[in-house]
Amino acid sequence: MTGSPIWHPFTQHGLGEPIPEVARAEGSLLHLALGETVIDGISSWWVTTHGHAHPRIAEAIARQAGELDQIIFAGWTHEPAERLAGGLRRIMPANLTRVFFSDSGSTSVEVALKMALGYWLNRGEDRHRIVVMDGGYHGDTIGAMSVGARGAFNRAYEPLLFDVVSIPFPRSHARQATLDALDTACREGAAAFIVEPLILGAGGMLVYDAQTLAEMRRICAAHGTLFIADEVMTGWGRTGTLLACEQAGIEPDILCLSKGLTGGAIPLAVTMASEPVYEAHFSPDRGRMFFHSSSYTANPIACAAANANLAIWREEPVMDRIAALAERQARHLARVAGHPLARNPRALGTIAAFDVGDAEGYLSDLAPRMLAMFRERGVLLRPLGNTIYVMPPYCTTGEQLGSIYDAIEDVLETLA
Ligand SMILES: *Cc1c(COP(=O)(O)O)cnc(C)c1O
Repeated sequence: MTGSPIWHPFTQHGLGEPIPEVARAEGSLLHLALGETVIDGISSWWVTTHGHAHPRIAEAIARQAGELDQIIFAGWTHEPAERLAGGLRRIMPANLTRVFFSDSGSTSVEVALKMALGYWLNRGEDRHRIVVMDGGYHGDTIGAMSVGARGAFNRAYEPLLFDVVSIPFPRSHARQATLDALDTACREGAAAFIVEPLILGAGGMLVYDAQTLAEMRRICAAHGTLFIADEVMTGWGRTGTLLACEQAGIEPDILCLSKGLTGGAIPLAVTMASEPVYEAHFSPDRGRMFFHSSSYTANPIACAAANANLAIWREEPVMDRIAALAERQARHLARVAGHPLARNPRALGTIAAFDVGDAEGYLSDLAPRMLAMFRERGVLLRPLGNTIYVMPPYCTTGEQLGSIYDAIEDVLETLA
């Protein structure tokens, strides 16, 4: 063995690609150990909202770490968690009365699926089928993979993944097929439908309209199928509103949040549930409790970071920053879209994407080649297959955004 003992996620070490070391980060900038500065064009994989090392979040973490670092959460509570749950109740959809903590987007999805199944079991109804959307992504644990797209990522685990009912992605001229498929699955007694509202992230930044989202919610409600909104990526302003669901005027039965919950500083997730979902587990009978916990559930330091995030949302002009970023980004995208290699430009809030040339799979070498080209140009962008997308922190300046798009144009020229 040579070099570092670290086995990196989603990394083929056999290719010998360089793994740069980051020493410090601030706002939208990453300062590498070797002295170079890189602009973070993907919010460090979609988590960093206000910018790296936001002083209020950093301060909250430091203060909480010296006061109460960790405490069992089964049967115990603490002020940072109570404050956070109350704060979420005030800003999240009014029907979501209950807050369950966990530590990552994947676990928030596992929790959502388990809540949905517990709901039906405790009501004495045999409903256990989950409906999903083609191309969806909900995380990398076994349950989350089961409800996500199947492919090279999970071929080895396929025999363990549970069966789901898939409905097609609502392409702009085929929305009715999606709605009909959902209606059929719900009529047949599906337990729950899990979906990424308005945009499939890892599936290639594919956008669909709010009206279809609203219609899907209506269909689920008509048949009692629980509607699970996975807003792990779309939450916290990414799509231009606090939640993507807002744009469709809908309230889910269960909501998953993680990435931007602490502003991206430290892992934390919540699964919020409606009163009927909670009620189904509420009983003097221990056998009906919700059987889920992890060691670090509602870690006080993570909750303190999330409380600082909520304070930033209340007290800083976050929505104005998002609107300004979205507006600038739309202009850059319009320019880049004129390039002969650029296809299907699309934008939603702070996210902009387009495809390069004709479709290629995730495992083609175009994505890593482009990633390396962006690295050489001092920009962190990580294309999904042949899809280039930009999803920067909200503090990204006009100049920094300009540099990201200059790099994109330069890379397109090199590939042309
Ligand atoms: C990233 C993501 C997840 C998984 O979150 P992790 O924190 O990486 O486990 C789940 N759902 C969506 C929509 C995501 O984008």
